[in-house]
Amino acid sequence: MASKLDIHAQSQTLPGSEAAMDPPAEMIRAGYKGADKLAGKVALITGGDSGIGRSVAIHFAREGADVAVVYLSEAEDAAETKRLVEAEGRRCHLIEGDLSDAGFCRSCVDETLDTLGGLNVLVNNAGTQWVSEDLAELPDEQWRRMFDVNMHSQFYLAKAALAHLGEGDSIINNASINAYIGPDFLVDYSATKGAIVSFTRSLSNQVVGRGIRVNAVAPGPVWTPLQPATLGAHDPQWLEGFGEQTPMGRAGQPSELGPVFVFLASQDASFISGQTIHPNGGTVVNG
Ligand code: NAD
Ligand code: MG
Repeated sequence: MASKLDIHAQSQTLPGSEAAMDPPAEMIRAGYKGADKLAGKVALITGGDSGIGRSVAIHFAREGADVAVVYLSEAEDAAETKRLVEAEGRRCHLIEGDLSDAGFCRSCVDETLDTLGGLNVLVNNAGTQWVSEDLAELPDEQWRRMFDVNMHSQFYLAKAALAHLGEGDSIINNASINAYIGPDFLVDYSATKGAIVSFTRSLSNQVVGRGIRVNAVAPGPVWTPLQPATLGAHDPQWLEGFGEQTPMGRAGQPSELGPVFVFLASQDASFISGQTIHPNGGTVVNG
């Protein structure tokens, strides 16, 4: 089991930097052995430069997949992910841009096909959040931006990807525990994550007959740049003891998320679709 992190008060600015994380996060457990669970597959992973997405990219590579990684602007973090994937002996293609743009989402799928020769797994992981404690003061534009980045990008990418996915392929959407527990300072963010859970269920029903599985992951607090860049930017003290409210008394590491995505992408999850998995430190949310 991962040990408890000593997380102190701190802040970053969006989109955050993995290189600036203190303490540094763990991306893959020492001794994690690949078993060719994704051999020969190609995955498109959004937000794969850092945090949960980087862990997914490294785990997928160790399991035999080539990966395309989309990132907003964090060139240094993305280059490090590419280095780590290539160290696993797999290919990594980096794509920089803003996923709130439908045309860019379509081009991400096209570039993956052109450079890596196929597409089998779409991981809709990119997302943003910010703190807003009063709905009356949340600008309409900010509400729309939250949905454009977190939710609408998943629609654009899934729509483009589904034209190329087939029997045995899958889509995995990153939601959040906040879809279930509804923090009062993340109303817009939580609304996007609830939409992602419902999108996952309904889309699964639409495509499962083609042998394509669609699932979601709803992480609890995980030590990634998103947190100092949003909660910490609001108040550095909010990061003090981050994650200690979970039943396990600690935040999760990205290394505890990557294997969940491997499971859902692999044949080990061949009878699972339309579901949400809850790596959250023991909080019982149901659904
Ligand atoms: P992260 O900051 O490492 O990853 C998020 C990534 O999304 C960034 O690296 C960034 O490149 C990308 N991104 C953001 N806006 C974008 C845009 N407009 N266009 C293209 N890319 C964009 O943080 P993370 O915590 O690993 O986040 C990954 C996912 O996990 C998010 O969807 C987040 O909501 C979800 N999540 C995180 C936690 C947590 O505690 N860290 C908990 C629940 C859910
Ligand atoms: Mg990043």
